[in-house]
Amino acid sequence: MVSPTLSIVAPAYNEERNLPAFLAAIVPVLEGLGETFEIVFVDDGSRDGTLGMLAAAASQDPRIKVVGLARNFGKDIALSAGLAHASGLAIIPIDCDLQHPVELIPQFVAKWREGFDMVLGVRSKRDEEGFVRRNLSKTYYKVMRFMTSVEIPPNAGDFRLIDRKILDVINQMPERHRFMKGIFAWPGFKVASLEFQARQRANDTQTSWSFFKLWRFALDGLFSFSTAPLKLWTYIGALSAGIAFIYMMITIIQKLFWGISAPGYASLLIVVLFFNGLLLISNGIQGEYIARIFEEVKGRPLYVIGRTFGFGEAPAARPSLPVATGAALVMEQPQATADKPRSELPKPTRRVE
Ligand code: UDP
Ligand code: MG
Repeated sequence: MVSPTLSIVAPAYNEERNLPAFLAAIVPVLEGLGETFEIVFVDDGSRDGTLGMLAAAASQDPRIKVVGLARNFGKDIALSAGLAHASGLAIIPIDCDLQHPVELIPQFVAKWREGFDMVLGVRSKRDEEGFVRRNLSKTYYKVMRFMTSVEIPPNAGDFRLIDRKILDVINQMPERHRFMKGIFAWPGFKVASLEFQARQRANDTQTSWSFFKLWRFALDGLFSFSTAPLKLWTYIGALSAGIAFIYMMITIIQKLFWGISAPGYASLLIVVLFFNGLLLISNGIQGEYIARIFEEVKGRPLYVIGRTFGFGEAPAARPSLPVATGAALVMEQPQATADKPRSELPKPTRRVE
């Protein structure tokens, strides 16, 4: 089978209420483009009827394909699974809760035809987010720009068009902490952006992003793309040692010339507590990196596929097991199928012998 021009990749977790409206909105837009297309849904271990609904859609429409993960792996991993299964020349990840305007897709494609390799969907206004969140997010992008070598465009999420040559690079990035904003930005190439207004979630369902989750997400991005937090402590240590040395000299001089004894139980306690605090923070930050090393060296596959539909395969696909023995195959290798010979599949992403 020849690859379609366009692949839409949509992760779905408990979206049975949004799916019919999503399909009704996106299919006419794609048909209107006059390009060949496929829609790759990833069911991220939904507990409702999402998978059944997607399977039914795939049986009716050969352009719809479904990767059913064996459990909930989280949005970023679900998206990565979908990206590994997309065969188009241009790939557009999109949420299926109707927050991303499907009308933007023709503009994405037009920009891509102009010669851009990545077309970002940038959220224009963030009124609904409140003053604190908006400013925190702004500061965050500044810190990221300062601390990492990857330029992460502010307010650009997963909704974007990615050219095949960029996707081939992304599919080879095996890291488990999938900070997608960074992963998308890392390969580079020619980037354009288009503004759009994010919508409220359809059907009044709540987003799962609590403040704590956002905080973790922000730290995850920083630790995944920068080693600056690790190196910072050399300077903090040198600075505090310098200050301690100066203070020691002052104390000695005072004692010698004026006979003043160093005052202080309270000040001593404060200094001890302060530096113990610093030490624990630095330990914690080292821990963040060690935990990442630990998770990476285990080399487990990124996700496990339970079922797939629409790829022309036998109904139950085998779980994706590492092919390299005793070593790490980090990304799942797509299965060769009747309509997709192995020669057309992306290469196994990483194999350590
Ligand atoms: N999603 C997923 N796995 C999850 C959570 C979400 O695949 O564990 C999907 C969800 O169905 C939706 C998209 O990811 O299509 C975005 O999720 P959500 O709307 O909760 O996030 P937000 O829009 O707040 O970023
Ligand atoms: Mg959403």
